[in-house]
Amino acid sequence: MGRFNSQTYLLWGVLAGVILGGVVGWVFGPKALFLSILGELFLNALKALVIPLIVVSMIVGISHLGDVRRLGRLGGITLLYFLTTMGLSVILGILLVNWIQPGVGVTIGEEMTKVLPRKEYSFLNVLRGLIPPNLFQAMSEGQVLPLLLFSLLFGGILTTLGPSGESVILFFRGINDALLKMVRIVMFFAPIGVFSLVATRLAQAGGGEMFLQELLRIFKYAGTVILGLLIHGSLTLPLVLFLFTRKNPLKVFKGVSQALMTAFATASSSATLPVTLEKTRSNLKTSPEVSSFVLPLGATINMDGTALYEAIAAIFIAQIYGIPLTLGQEVVIFLTATLAAIGAAGIPEAGLVTMVLVLQSVGLPLEGIGALLAIDWFLDRCRTTVNVWGDVIGTGVIDSTLGKRS
Ligand code: ASP
Repeated sequence: MGRFNSQTYLLWGVLAGVILGGVVGWVFGPKALFLSILGELFLNALKALVIPLIVVSMIVGISHLGDVRRLGRLGGITLLYFLTTMGLSVILGILLVNWIQPGVGVTIGEEMTKVLPRKEYSFLNVLRGLIPPNLFQAMSEGQVLPLLLFSLLFGGILTTLGPSGESVILFFRGINDALLKMVRIVMFFAPIGVFSLVATRLAQAGGGEMFLQELLRIFKYAGTVILGLLIHGSLTLPLVLFLFTRKNPLKVFKGVSQALMTAFATASSSATLPVTLEKTRSNLKTSPEVSSFVLPLGATINMDGTALYEAIAAIFIAQIYGIPLTLGQEVVIFLTATLAAIGAAGIPEAGLVTMVLVLQSVGLPLEGIGALLAIDWFLDRCRTTVNVWGDVIGTGVIDSTLGKRS
C-alpha cells in the first residue's frame, strides 16, 4: 500500500508540476526566473547519478548475459530495432513535411542571419571520441559512448574470470541497487523540480505571450513536428510494442510516465536515464540484462523524435528558401537525418547542432537554422519525450524477441 501511495503521489505530483510550471511560466514570464534553483538542484542530482549508473548498469547487465554469444544477438537485435524505428519516424517526417509544406510562404526575417556557432562535427571525431586517452576525463565531460564501450568490455571480461570476476560483479550489483534506490529518493523531489524547470524555461522565453508569438510565426512548422511526434509516439511505437510483446501500450505508458515527464522537463535523454532505468525496472518487468544494455545505449543513439525533427526541419528550410529537392536528395536527407539523430548526444538541443550534417549533405543554407532557433527549446522537449519513449518500447520489444529465441 505504501508503495502504491508513493507511486500515485509521484505520478500526479509530476503531472501537476508540468502543468503548474507551464501556467506560472506563462503568466509571470521573466518574473518566475527566481524559481530556477529548484530545477537546477533536481537536474544536478539526476546528472550526478547518470555517469555512475551508465557504467555500473552496463557492467551488471552484461554480466547477467552469461554467454558472450548472447551479447552478439542482443546487440544485433538492438541495432536493428534502433535503425528500423528511427527509419520509420524519418519517413513519417518526410511525408508530413512534403504534404503540409510548412515552409512555403514563410518570409526570412532578420533573426535568420543569427547562425549557430559552427561546431565541428565529423565522423572521424566521433570515432576518436570512442577511445579517449583518459577515461576519467571522458566521465567528467559526460561523454557517454566511450564509457558504454569500456563498460561493455569490462563487464564481458569479468564473466570470463571465474570466482575473482564473480566477486567484482557482486560488488557492482550492490552499487547498482544502491544507485537505483538513490534515484527513487531524487524522484520524490521530481514534482518540484519539474515544476521549476518548466516554469523557468518558459520564463526565459519571455512568458506565455512571447512564446505564443514565436510559435504562431512558424506555427505550421512546429505543428508538423508535433503532429509527427504524436503519430510516431501514439501509433507507430505502441503498435510495434503490441505486435512484438502483446503488452498493453497504455499500461506501459502509465508505468514509465514519470520518465517521460522528466524527459519533457529536462530536454535530455541522458539526464532522464536514471529515471528511465528505475521505472522500466520496477514497472516493465523486463530482464535486467536487456534494460541495462538497451536503455543507456538508447539514450545516446536511439532518437526517434530527433530523427523525425531533423528531416522535417531540413526540408522546411529548403521550402523557405524555395529550393526544390529531388527524390535523390530526399533519400540523402533520410540517411543523414538518421545519422544526425544517432550522432546527437542526449543533451538539450544537441539535434540542432548535428543538423548541420543534414543541411550540408544536400547543400542547404546553414543560415536556415536561424529560423528554428526561437522555438527549438520547446520542440526539443517534445522530441526528447519521444526519444525516451522509443527506448522504453525498445526494451520491451528486444526483451521479448530475445526471450523467444533463447
Ligand atoms: N535533447 C534531445 C535528447 O536528449 C536530443 C536533441 O534532439 O536535441 O534526446
